Amino acid sequence: MKIVVLKFGGTSVGTTKKIKKVAEIIADYKKKNYKVIVISSAMSGVTNELVKKSVEISGNFSDSEHDVLVSSGEQMACSLIAGRLIHKGFKSRSWLSWQVPIITVGKHKISRINQININKIFKYLREGGIPVITGFQGVNNENRLTTIGRGGSDASAIMFAKFFKAERCIIYTDVEGIYTTDPNKLKNAKKIKVISYEEMLEMASLGAKVMQPVSIQDARLNRIDIEVKSSFTKKSGTLITKKSNIINNKIVTGITSTQNDSKVSLIGVKDKPGVAASIFKPLSKNLINVDMVVQNISPNGKETDLTFTIKTEDLNKTKKTIQENKNINYRKLLFEKNVSKISVIGVGMITTPGVTFKMFQTLANKKINIKVISTSEIKISVLIDKKNTRKAIVALHKEFKLGKLR
Ligand code: ADP
Ligand code: ASP
Ligand code: MG
Repeated sequence: MKIVVLKFGGTSVGTTKKIKKVAEIIADYKKKNYKVIVISSAMSGVTNELVKKSVEISGNFSDSEHDVLVSSGEQMACSLIAGRLIHKGFKSRSWLSWQVPIITVGKHKISRINQININKIFKYLREGGIPVITGFQGVNNENRLTTIGRGGSDASAIMFAKFFKAERCIIYTDVEGIYTTDPNKLKNAKKIKVISYEEMLEMASLGAKVMQPVSIQDARLNRIDIEVKSSFTKKSGTLITKKSNIINNKIVTGITSTQNDSKVSLIGVKDKPGVAASIFKPLSKNLINVDMVVQNISPNGKETDLTFTIKTEDLNKTKKTIQENKNINYRKLLFEKNVSKISVIGVGMITTPGVTFKMFQTLANKKINIKVISTSEIKISVLIDKKNTRKAIVALHKEFKLGKLR
């Protein structure tokens, strides 16, 4: 059976007019004799609205109810798509996660798809039907609805491609593919024809919201090629695939920035074994994700300063966790909200010396101060003042010759 998984993001199903266009795309694959599995996200803005409502109802809204509420947008989008396909004369119906079922494991809000029961959908495909399936949601072993993290329909699509051994998995979105940097922020950004899982994973984790990081991990693990393209034009998109399929590795492939980072500094902590652990253990227990970490060299061997970054939404929780923990001793606690992490990513960095220097020099020439640095084999990240984000991206994009116009 020649199966294609087509995933439509919120922007692709944002209005009934757009949904009619989506139905045409689906019809085209059906005409090419594909068995089509459709995965849809909620209409754009709907999930955010639902999250907002939950906060209005309670500052401490139950996680399980959160999942029931915020996953409801997908139900609406799927029925509209199926309704349009039926209108066009196709056999189609919507499938909610529990009807498939899509089995998830783990905590509410951040569950992972573990198993997809393929029997009913296979039967439906064999009968010529087009199943339109809710992305983002699943059901756990207690028969409760779950969600798999914001942007999660990407991961739903990849897992369907895995369990149904699909020939193709296409992510339709509102841009033509993966770009060297967010094309909505920099006009000169260039579409990337092919990118490795490793680079895409870094880009997604470091701020390129076009793909959800978990979905790339799943694709990499299962060796599933992903095509990312626009639902508004017929232009070719980007292929996300394994490194060995890529002939021309660039030194730098892309640049990303984050929106909501905050910096936390503990001044004057004791410079002795176990101190860092005593600070980070309670943070991790409270599910606070610590990102970049630096510890200054201690001038007197007794005291040092420790700086790290977190998501701004975790700032109050972090403050409380540190201040209430009597085991953490420091002289001063400082917070800085308006910071942004800029990263340059590329597998070619492994073999090319001097990228770090070039990045730092470029930022220095623009008089942009670097607050924190972190690196891996294929990325360099720096923390800077948020107000300098655009200036930094423009300068680095030019320095690494990433643009359409050079
Ligand atoms: P969807 O609704 O299809 O899931 P998203 O809003 O999640 O779409 O992702 C698409 C958006 O990702 C684009 O509109 C674009 O602004 C943003 N984006 C950020 N970085 C990149 C990048 N490097 N390449 C392409 N798009 C990017
Ligand atoms: N609708 C969900 C969200 O907004 C899932 C997705 O877009 O993939 O996060
Ligand atoms: Mg998305």
